[in-house]
Amino acid sequence: MKAAANPNVESVLQGIQQVVGSCSKEHPISLHEPDFGGTQAWAYVKDCLDSGWVSTAGSWVSRFEQELCSITGARHAVVVSNGTIALRLALHLVGVGPGDEVLLPPLSFVATANAVAHLGAVPHFVDVEPNSLGLCPAALAARLEAIADRREDTLVNRETGRRIAAALPVHVFGHPAEVDQLRTLADTWGFPLVEDAAEALASWRGATHCGLFGSVGTLSFNGNKLITTGGGGALLTNDSALAKRARHLSTTAKHPHPWEFVHDAVGWNDRLPNLNAALGVAQLEDLDRRLDAKLLVVQRYAEVFAELDGVELVGEPTDCRSNHWLVSLRFTAEDPLVAQAARLQLLERAHSIGLLLRPVWTPLHQLPMYMACPAGSLGVAENQASRLLNLPSSPQLVEGWEECSHFS
Ligand SMILES: *Cc1c(COP(=O)(O)O)cnc(C)c1O
Repeated sequence: MKAAANPNVESVLQGIQQVVGSCSKEHPISLHEPDFGGTQAWAYVKDCLDSGWVSTAGSWVSRFEQELCSITGARHAVVVSNGTIALRLALHLVGVGPGDEVLLPPLSFVATANAVAHLGAVPHFVDVEPNSLGLCPAALAARLEAIADRREDTLVNRETGRRIAAALPVHVFGHPAEVDQLRTLADTWGFPLVEDAAEALASWRGATHCGLFGSVGTLSFNGNKLITTGGGGALLTNDSALAKRARHLSTTAKHPHPWEFVHDAVGWNDRLPNLNAALGVAQLEDLDRRLDAKLLVVQRYAEVFAELDGVELVGEPTDCRSNHWLVSLRFTAEDPLVAQAARLQLLERAHSIGLLLRPVWTPLHQLPMYMACPAGSLGVAENQASRLLNLPSSPQLVEGWEECSHFS
């Protein structure tokens, strides 16, 4: 354990600058920036433009899906137009509907809860554990014991009378949540597990890729993610029937026919355009290089902060491989208010010189639209939320190092 006092904010700032190099208000550095350098992106997009296949069908879509399967080991990948839509479709496919409750952690990007709300369902917040920052199996078990009743073949929250329809853990910043244990709980209680793996492409718990522990998992290819298609997302699943239904519902539920318009359900227009899929293929070809570069970035930060008291890096959970999407610094002062004060000081200083650090998200149960949602005790999430800060983590940071003298 490190000392409980705050570090000197200037020392932290200097540490970060040793990794990211020079920046200024005119040339700011964000947490994770897109990069198509050294890829075939131009050529692949040109192919779409030349062939006219720019929309929601085309060879790049199938190729992107195949590549995602071979990288993750998923039997099926269905690409859609963003990660929020992927989540909404995944939840719908496992049966989440109006008036249901979905168990999820409050420490996530707002899209996780929004996807639940878009279906007319209600987020029910359960605490995280401080190691992976993901949904805590012990907290989930305790919460279920406290509020869940099995009535015939549905699980009901006896305090609200609503059906508990699914659990939705999140792999935060690329670190695999304890989804093996969560899966066991879901099986015991009899509800489906959907994983928000938006941040966790190329993250593994044991031999299983994130997103493949439950019924279905989702990815995001937004501009700030590990790889980007501009905007995009995917469902990963080993369930052939679910994948088939995902394709059907995301293409207006239209029966395949050369000219007839027959639709058998209220479907969506959710598929990823070929143009975006072409970018995705180009990015996936660069994935290993990006992952290697990110490992170097994490190692540099680790070296820099090893000697500094009052801060530590959020580490890779045991038996896991993290993609290290975002490197997170934790202020270790015991009192969260003390940690939060140092974090604020650092944020102000950093932004004044173009270093665009960000705190972890405001916990979702503290946002106005989710304040009244059912929740267990959320002490760990609240504590962690006041002490975590994300650092610039782009793979292209390593490109600046050759010119830098302070790394030999
Ligand atoms: C990015 C993200 C999403 C949403 O993905 P979009 O493609 O931006 O819609 C959902 N959940 C988490 C945890 C994310 O980081």
